[in-house]
Amino acid sequence: MHRLYEQEDIAIFWDSEKCRHAKRCVTGSPRTFDITRRPWIDPTKAPTAEIWQAVSACPSGALTCVYTHGIRIVLDEEGHRSIALDGEKQIGECDFDETEDCVEIFHTEVLPEYGRKGIAKRLVYKVTEAAEHAKKRVLSSCSYAKKVLE
Ligand code: SF4
Repeated sequence: MHRLYEQEDIAIFWDSEKCRHAKRCVTGSPRTFDITRRPWIDPTKAPTAEIWQAVSACPSGALTCVYTHGIRIVLDEEGHRSIALDGEKQIGECDFDETEDCVEIFHTEVLPEYGRKGIAKRLVYKVTEAAEHAKKRVLSSCSYAKKVLE
């Protein structure tokens, strides 16, 4: 299961298959990580620095995070893509094909000047999370997305 939790400053990625349930995140920021709550991660509950520190303590790599740099990620279901927006300017996208039981990501791209900010990973997670909510299998013929989802 792949989940993306975002607020204005920070985006948190959670890959449940890597989670060892060691709960260091819960100890580090109990306001953000609360296993009795749904969703169990809420990045609006604590300051960004506290969240960053708690995520950094995750021993398994299940949790990672990036700063958002003001870039918004939006799912465009009709367009079969997620898009990254800097204000009104589109600066990246992740495209997919869809069948009744499957979503296949085939292209992910971010403008070079916006590289190395985790934007492509946020785009892939946005599509994957929606597919998983719809109980669809996620495949990838996009080498970048494949690596992200490994
Ligand atoms: S610290 Fe990482 S491995 Fe431990 S419960 Fe949290 S997400 Fe899972």
